[in-house]
Amino acid sequence: MTHQKAPTAQRFPEIDADTAYRLIIGGELVPAEGGATFRCVDPYDDVEWGYVAEASAGDVDRAVRSAHEAFPGWRDAHPRVRCQILSRWGELIAANLDRIARLQVHENGKTIAENKMALGGAAFFADLFSRLGMTLHGLAIPNVTPTIESWTRREPLGVVAAITPWNNPLSLLASKLFPALAAGNTVVIKPSEVTPVSTLELVKLGLEAGLPAGVVNVVTGAGATGAALVDHPGVAKVAFTGSTATGRRIAQSLAPRFVKYSLELGGKGPNLVFDDANLDRAIPGLIVGMTAGAGQACNAGSRILIQAPVYDEVIEKLMTALGKLRIGDPLDPETDLGPIASRLQYSRVSSYLDIAAQEGHTRLSGGRLGADLVSGSKGLFVEPTLYQASHARSRLMQEEIFGPVAGAIRFETEDEAVELANGVDYGLVAGFWTQSLSRGHRLVPRLDAGTVWVNTWRMFSAFVPFGGFKNSGVGHEYGLDAVEQYTRTKATFLDFA
Ligand code: ADP
Repeated sequence: MTHQKAPTAQRFPEIDADTAYRLIIGGELVPAEGGATFRCVDPYDDVEWGYVAEASAGDVDRAVRSAHEAFPGWRDAHPRVRCQILSRWGELIAANLDRIARLQVHENGKTIAENKMALGGAAFFADLFSRLGMTLHGLAIPNVTPTIESWTRREPLGVVAAITPWNNPLSLLASKLFPALAAGNTVVIKPSEVTPVSTLELVKLGLEAGLPAGVVNVVTGAGATGAALVDHPGVAKVAFTGSTATGRRIAQSLAPRFVKYSLELGGKGPNLVFDDANLDRAIPGLIVGMTAGAGQACNAGSRILIQAPVYDEVIEKLMTALGKLRIGDPLDPETDLGPIASRLQYSRVSSYLDIAAQEGHTRLSGGRLGADLVSGSKGLFVEPTLYQASHARSRLMQEEIFGPVAGAIRFETEDEAVELANGVDYGLVAGFWTQSLSRGHRLVPRLDAGTVWVNTWRMFSAFVPFGGFKNSGVGHEYGLDAVEQYTRTKATFLDFA
């Protein structure tokens, strides 16, 4: 493990740490009622910055009402008009990519390269879904009687609540926001309290692109603000990405009102290496699975399952590769792992190092924590930490850690591999490395995961649906039908006799 030295100069000279960031309601920047605010904390140098409005239930109500008022105009606008605004918005995101990517680094400490890639994706989503919005259509259905015509219409739902997490705030927002708007819905966004500012800046670009007032509103705040939005009777759908615990709470509050929801929740991805794998490709895939975003990813490959004949070789190569990773300032393009995004998450991740010790797993690499890992920083760093797991039913191997911590375990047969891979409550992603085409085809249907990667990891496409099985969620995002996920189907019979 190489540890970068912290730069001493002020890292974000372009950002005034005293800036007041307001809510966006009805096209205006407004303070929260009563003037409540909270602060962002940079996880690299532990400095507080910005004063962000903390929305109350009253503010949420104002935002939902504003979205309601804007709905008929946006719904009835010509799809070409929506397309023009959204694609202009995408251009503005691309033009402001560096500025917003740096803001995101200031918020969540993810590396600048990752944040830039995510924003490039958001710009593309704006453009793609603006166009797909023009392709929505119903069906004309021939009927049993000669004088009755019947057809279906795809209608927008109304006000969509988009509740987003801190690990990938803008690409996970883009996957909800742009399909919802392209279908003619209006939106109220509740970004994570860890990453509120980048979302506000993104939506300001939307206003600049010509979004009518009230079509997109942002209420910043923590869980209570999110809960007020979920409980608001004016919300027609909740699109949520976050923890399984919060997703379950949201589903429980929406169930009595039958409000639609899509939930993209946690994961505990198995990354399997078979004895015929090309290890030159598999090892980087295992590293990405374990350490991308410092492991703060629902699609992490935190369970490394290795077939017995190659177990020792894979572990040795993995440890060599882990040893070359650079942990440091996320603004430095050479950095592989930045800090953990928040003190709360840092304490969660650290607690799993204690749990792993109590459960008796053997630590193979890493295990050190804290600011001392990068001289001059005050960062919440966790070294990538790999264990040889003593048993698969342990908390280390069952629970989502959301940090650069993984357990390795040995298997003999393909059946055993499948049993281990599926032996968790989650079912978001799974991957395996093999050179056997028939094993590839044989295994995909047997794995309980919404996305299966064969000889790759963390591959996404806006054209391919992404969503979890089991406790990893309900519904999917991305894909060519993403816009339809924000519509309702109306059937019509017309008797022209
Ligand atoms: P984490 O604990 O890792 O931050 P959460 O699932 O709690 O993950 O957070 C994801 C998003 O859900 C954030 O925007 C958060 O503020 C929001 N949130 C938290 N609690 C609730 C709740 N009860 N209802 C609605 N949203 C919530």
